Amino acid sequence: MLKFNVTPQAYPEKRKPEKRAEDFNEIYMEYAVQKAEEQANRCSQCGIPFCQVHCPLQNNIPDWLKLTAENRLQEAYEISSATNTFPEICGRICPQDRLCEGNCVVNKGFGAVTIGSIEKFITENAWEQGWVKPFAPKSERKESIGIIGAGPAGMAAAEMLRRQGYKVTIYDRYNRAGGLMIYGIPNFKLEKWVVERRTEWLKSSGVKFNLNCDIGKDISFKELQSKHDAILIATGVYKARTLETTGMELDNIIPALQFLIASNKIGLGDKLKEPMSMGGKHVVVVGGGDTAMDCVRTAIRQDASSVTCLYRRDRDNMPGSRREVNHAEEEGVKFVWLSAPKAFKGKAGKVSEVLVQRMRLNGKDANGRESIVPVEGEDYAISADIVINALGFEPEDLPALFNEPRLKLNNNGTVKVTPGTFETNIEGVFAAGDIVRGASLVVWGIADGRSAAQAIISSLQSKAAIAQTQKQEGRRARM
Ligand SMILES: Cc1cc2nc3c(=O)[nH]c(=O)nc-3n(C[C@H](O)[C@H](O)[C@H](O)COP(=O)(O)OP(=O)(O)OC[C@H]3O[C@@H](n4cnc5c(N)ncnc54)[C@H](O)[C@@H]3O)c2cc1C
Repeated sequence: MLKFNVTPQAYPEKRKPEKRAEDFNEIYMEYAVQKAEEQANRCSQCGIPFCQVHCPLQNNIPDWLKLTAENRLQEAYEISSATNTFPEICGRICPQDRLCEGNCVVNKGFGAVTIGSIEKFITENAWEQGWVKPFAPKSERKESIGIIGAGPAGMAAAEMLRRQGYKVTIYDRYNRAGGLMIYGIPNFKLEKWVVERRTEWLKSSGVKFNLNCDIGKDISFKELQSKHDAILIATGVYKARTLETTGMELDNIIPALQFLIASNKIGLGDKLKEPMSMGGKHVVVVGGGDTAMDCVRTAIRQDASSVTCLYRRDRDNMPGSRREVNHAEEEGVKFVWLSAPKAFKGKAGKVSEVLVQRMRLNGKDANGRESIVPVEGEDYAISADIVINALGFEPEDLPALFNEPRLKLNNNGTVKVTPGTFETNIEGVFAAGDIVRGASLVVWGIADGRSAAQAIISSLQSKAAIAQTQKQEGRRARM
């Protein structure tokens, strides 16, 4: 270990930008065993491992790096999968530059240990070697849990609950499991067979999936409660935030997820009634988060004539991962910083131009975020055949959807839970993931799903213990 000062940092090779813009395949190649061991050897085995501290799952990173460096790959996989339901997915799509790698002690001066790529290597190797097997609980329990939402939060909770022998059914309105991992995040970041392989793994371990089932429409929330001993709401956030801008009513101004879901469905082989393609079009994407990055890079792959990303702050103050911006720039996306749409203009009812308002930074606001103000007199117009609105997401109105007005929400519409127990104000109803946290990350979905499952287990066990005591007391009273 500690080879960070003699072995240079090396990520797996990236495919050339012009090649990767031709398809939707992942852009990174795999490490070979020797390379993974060499890179793991760069870890400094810190007394306080900041990589682990800053990982939402508290992954035991230094230990699995050491095991990898020693070629003890099965043990490395066992440790990495003990705290993470989907290590190969986190290895691919976690913003490591903001989490583990961004906090790696050798990052400054030597370049971080390439933790994400090694995590992906360990897990892919484990699948190849046949070490990832369906699991069987030691004993079956009679209680069942209904999970609404087959995203990372719901699926991670399902793993933990099933391992303890509970009967688990996941309900999802879509025809495939995976949530945003299957229909939001594009293939070039996360190929879909990776998600489908985990769905199969959960199915083989006894988790039941009830797909094409919209809770609140196909089955009422009340009916679901009557079927299960506990419910976990893990429905994510899907309502697109919109702009209050003149011309929003024009055609061809579309929400990001509509575009990404259509693209992912086509990639999965589905035939769409109205396929949407950016081929030959001037595409303008509004937003600076990961969703905007996914839209610009998808448009490039659909052969758009030009792709421009408008973001109202600058590069240093954007919410998206720097790594993603670099990929996008390499692939030919033009970023226009400190710019926001002021109005959309159209021809024959379709958008044709975006009037852009210049902005400038104006010091930090109360939340520590750089504020912005418009710069007057510097507006200009750019051509646009399509505008994609990637300004983030908000929760649906769940009390209305579930016809359950008692369900308490936070001010921003997310579901209110008791911190630590993940329980809502309705007994036996828990919630986790984006629907509680607001739009976040897969790794937080996994972390919350796993913790919520532990809370459900504690709650069911204490209910069972109380029932047992009452039964014994009743028996004693009758004697
Ligand atoms: C375009 C995009 C790119 C992203 N890229 C990244 C990234 O690179 N890295 C990263 O870490 N995070 C990324 N994220 C964020 C990440 O995908 C989410 O934070 C994460 O998926 C949230 O998990 P979840 O389980 O809470 O919800 P979701 O993944 O949204 O899953 C919720 C599920 O609930 C189902 N559902 C909702 N309502 C109902 C209902 N009434 N009945 C039945 N089913 C229902 C939905 O169909 C869905 O399958 C991205 C998000 C988007 C939109």
